[in-house]
Amino acid sequence: MNLKKSEELYQKAKDVLPGGVSSPVRAIKPYPFYTDSAYGSKIKDIDGNEYIDYCMGYGPNIFGHSNPIIRKAIVDQLNKGWLFGTPIENEFKLADKITDYYPSIDMLRFVSTGTEATMSALRTARGFTGKNKFIKIEGGFHGAHDSVLVKAGSGATTLGKPDSLGVPEKSTAHTLQVPFNDIESMTEIVESHKDDLAAVIMEPVMGNIGPILPHKGYLSEVRKLTQENDIVLIFDEVITGFRLSMGGAQEYYGITPDMTTLGKVIGGGLPIGVFGGKREIMEMVSPSGDIYQAGTFSGSPSVMAAGLAVIEQLEKENIHKKLNSRGDELRSGLRDIVDDTGLDYSVSGIASMFKIFFGDSPANYQDSLKCDKSEYVQFFRRMLENGIFLPPSQFETNFLSTAHTDSDIEKTIRAYESNLKGSLE
Ligand code: PMP
Repeated sequence: MNLKKSEELYQKAKDVLPGGVSSPVRAIKPYPFYTDSAYGSKIKDIDGNEYIDYCMGYGPNIFGHSNPIIRKAIVDQLNKGWLFGTPIENEFKLADKITDYYPSIDMLRFVSTGTEATMSALRTARGFTGKNKFIKIEGGFHGAHDSVLVKAGSGATTLGKPDSLGVPEKSTAHTLQVPFNDIESMTEIVESHKDDLAAVIMEPVMGNIGPILPHKGYLSEVRKLTQENDIVLIFDEVITGFRLSMGGAQEYYGITPDMTTLGKVIGGGLPIGVFGGKREIMEMVSPSGDIYQAGTFSGSPSVMAAGLAVIEQLEKENIHKKLNSRGDELRSGLRDIVDDTGLDYSVSGIASMFKIFFGDSPANYQDSLKCDKSEYVQFFRRMLENGIFLPPSQFETNFLSTAHTDSDIEKTIRAYESNLKGSLE
């Protein structure tokens, strides 16, 4: 595989961009490929190599790259202008649609990233309850703001630095951690801190250390515990929202939190975040209430247009049913391969999220750290050489899109097979 131009660009880029990239997980070793263009299921680098992409922008591109309907919606908006600093009708239309699908959301605010969404959701939960502390799940990733950068998944765990320099101790003093799938630990922490406990924030399906699914009954126990103790339950559905189903993981598992954060899929590939919740909570957000939150780019016109185009397509084509059953097929194909090799690996995932985990199926963060990270990195490289682009980290999820064809999937399964078997040699 010729990556000459990417290598040259990397040598120059790392002079002006830390690690040569704009976000840590992209810093593939020894250097990343730099992308030229991407259409459908394929992404093409500046040296002309083409890969079947399962990274899919880390989740947003549920219809694959450069989806023509989303493109048209964006271009139509661009022709009318792309930043007004005034409200527009599409903000209302998209908000109205989202509230239809998420019973946990009576009102919402648009922001520009998932990071902003969880940061603002936590502030809102604290403002609403008048309490300070919140519980986060170990290995949960809620973006890169101070109070959640403790035992954070995603790039933080990949780089072996789940906590960050530059975060004052006081910023995380109110962040309590419990393992996923362990209601006893959460109950204990709730018991000892409930006088000052504003919220529990969690990914209902852990997407940044696995993926790891909730054990049967776990989410409903969390719901019960938070309800009984007047704690705001926030589901961070930045990955799972509009991905598992129209109503996200909360619809899939039938659990209604008090607040929800969304991002990724609902922006159609443009930068978006959403935080929303019960009316009595959200009415406290400025300007209707005193919990301050603001953003120059919030509700950005092209993003709103893309979001509406996403919903329209998802509604029309019954996408989730088809996509999720392809996910089932793919996972079952991968399970057969893993069984065949006798390797101590496991296949995890749900709906259109999947991953081969280089270790026993994890139930929580501590389990997930036991995987063979270095073997995964070598495997990732071999797959790339075979024209398959997986997320470069063991902890990031692979995403299927509607653009992946049968032949893409066949080729992918063959590559998994030969490269996993290769690792035995
Ligand atoms: N929450 C979750 C569950 C995420 O996976 C991510 C990003 N991967 C975020 C929040 C942060 O979103 P963003 O990168 O858009 O800030």
